[in-house]
Amino acid sequence: MPVAHILGFPRIGAQRELKTAVEAHWRGALDEAGLHEAARALRRRHWQQQRDAGLDFVTVGDFAFYDHLHNLTALVGASPARFGVGPSPGLADYFAMARGTPEQPALAMKKWFDTNYHYLVPELAADTRFALNRDWLLPEVREAQALGHRIKVVLPGPLTWLWLGEAEAGLDKLALLSLLLNVYWVLLAELKTLGVEWAQLDEPILSLDLPADWRQAFVTSYGELAGAGPQLLLATYFGDVSEHAAMLRALPLAGLHLDLVRAPQQLAQFVDEWPQDRVLSLGIVDGRNLWRTDLAAALTTLHAAQAALGERLWIATSCSLQHVPTDLRLERRLEPRIRNWMAFAVQKLDELALLKRALRDGEGSVWRELHVAASAIADRRRAPSTQVAAVRARVAALKPEHARRATPFATRHVAQQAQLRLPKLPTTTIGSFPQTDEIRAARAACKAGTLDAADYRTAMQAEIRSVVERQEALGIDVLVHGEPERNDMVEYFGEQLDGYTFTQNGWVQSYGSRCVKPPVIHGDVSRPCAMTVEWSTYAQSLTDRPMKGMLSGPLTMLFWSFVRDDLPKREVALQLALALRDEVVDLEAAGIRIIQIDEPTIREGLPLKQADRPAYLEWAVQAFRITASGVRDETQIHTHMCYSEFNDILPAIAAMDADVITIETSRARMKLLDAFADFRYPNDIGPGLYDIHSPRVPTREEMTALLDKALAVLPADRLWINPDCGLKTRGWPETEAALTRMVATARAARATL
Ligand code: GLN
Ligand code: ZN
Repeated sequence: MPVAHILGFPRIGAQRELKTAVEAHWRGALDEAGLHEAARALRRRHWQQQRDAGLDFVTVGDFAFYDHLHNLTALVGASPARFGVGPSPGLADYFAMARGTPEQPALAMKKWFDTNYHYLVPELAADTRFALNRDWLLPEVREAQALGHRIKVVLPGPLTWLWLGEAEAGLDKLALLSLLLNVYWVLLAELKTLGVEWAQLDEPILSLDLPADWRQAFVTSYGELAGAGPQLLLATYFGDVSEHAAMLRALPLAGLHLDLVRAPQQLAQFVDEWPQDRVLSLGIVDGRNLWRTDLAAALTTLHAAQAALGERLWIATSCSLQHVPTDLRLERRLEPRIRNWMAFAVQKLDELALLKRALRDGEGSVWRELHVAASAIADRRRAPSTQVAAVRARVAALKPEHARRATPFATRHVAQQAQLRLPKLPTTTIGSFPQTDEIRAARAACKAGTLDAADYRTAMQAEIRSVVERQEALGIDVLVHGEPERNDMVEYFGEQLDGYTFTQNGWVQSYGSRCVKPPVIHGDVSRPCAMTVEWSTYAQSLTDRPMKGMLSGPLTMLFWSFVRDDLPKREVALQLALALRDEVVDLEAAGIRIIQIDEPTIREGLPLKQADRPAYLEWAVQAFRITASGVRDETQIHTHMCYSEFNDILPAIAAMDADVITIETSRARMKLLDAFADFRYPNDIGPGLYDIHSPRVPTREEMTALLDKALAVLPADRLWINPDCGLKTRGWPETEAALTRMVATARAARATL
């Protein structure tokens, strides 16, 4: 009979209890003992839920106060020397490294593979040494055992931890491997002493393009660790690992986990001739999305696998459930029909248990539950909202010319300049201005129904008027309306588009105590009516200077949402592109001459493997171009991207063919621009001239130095002047002070051209 387990559970709590406790602790309102008690309560609840559902193990080790990779860093005693915390960090040290101290900046944060979760980057030096800090894991193991659970311990694997670390110059990270393995070895041995039967080591880097020496490192590492402690389950996820099939089969492991949601095709490479003494764990329930599993389809796959594997078959979630919200039962406002198509983490436990019973006792034993699940899937399939004929027809009718401006940039540029008459080095901002308490209060009151729509509009218009006046006084050339009406750059548009819905408690951890509640794309997307035209035209009516219309792009709308899993992402992107294209066209018709389409996320969709990237970039660029190409030559299209490693996707960024791109550069001191210059990026660029992430007002000299750097590598008539993005998080005094200097810097530079 198959074993059912999960790779990990969301740790934040269904109502973000962990966030509440951690932030109270940071404020000094909850002491360490209180924080530990809150954590214990959450773990206890989550383990009990796994057990109640009927899973064979509860998973221990997936809890973290901030980040599970950082927990491993603490567990193996690899605190960077610059924090001076020594080899045995306590909780305060752990948080100091995560959040920074007055003397030391925090550890860097990076996106966990292709998810929106961010991990803390380990810092590796030639003299990094390791020491086992039992307190960072063993108490949890004992805690679970004391509660009478049968447990499987999960840890990031040594190679994934090393790979994700940032090495000091000249260091080959693999040089640290054998020291690290010593600590794993001791740890595994102690887990065995404690009676732990299974340890799951997560090695998602197997889904990346791995160099040969790293592949070889798997052979040596797992050869060494195999006998150390509990039986080892090596977990892969987020991609296809079949290129490593021979190597993985030869490792002396007790089991291997495969992600069959992302890469169902890889099963064939493993299931035949799978060694008799090994478990194969099949991740068939999606850990990345909140839809119900098609249990009938899953059972078809699993029956076949069971025939080949017998007792060696395990069933599981594709990856940790940390990427999905916790409990659908808390959603009381979702439309019941759509809610019935969903399964959050707790519901996914039940799905696994059901699959297990169907495999063990036959489908007849659970026919009622299977029937309920099948009707939900069938209902979703035939729901009118999931296949709107008009939307499908529009996408089907797309022609290459929809994704092409009428003329090349050089021609458009002349037409735009004739109309806009901008000075050299034109100044602008990225869109938002400080979101004051009054703005937030008005928005909340409007949502709660205590402020009626007309009063809300008056309040927002007053804010827009003041923002326009301030920009005119500052002497900025291209104005923005300030986005006071927007809670968030995706939710704001999602609320106005058909095909979107919103949860009340669908939180997932983004980093540390920060959680996001992504909107849900459940059906075909279309735009019932204009979304921003009224605000933008109002703002334009207040000034003779050009007012930028401000939209979120199709990729951002896609990647910052939970996306339907019954349609390829490309199709959803094209639907979004057409909806946003209509908005662009309407803005133009209403007299808006410059429209910015924010696209900070093009990199987020980038497939983990090189070979899959060109196909993705092609549709990503196509979606942007469809959005941007419905307008006349005279209308200037801007795009904006946040900090990013751009270098390898510059051709795609150029292919988006925005007339102007603004990018975040100041923190990297314009290094990014070299890449644009080397690539001879053809259109206009606005590199961020100052960092808005701190209230500190940069000096004229600093801005001038950055501008000089930009002027050194790019032609002056291609350059715009703007800050980095995110002014909504700042206060007005520093914003106005910094922008005053920015405008002065631009004027002084113009005089020298
Ligand atoms: N227009 C948005 C703003 O300025 C862009 C946000 C972003 O880049 N993520 O806030
Ligand atoms: Zn940005």
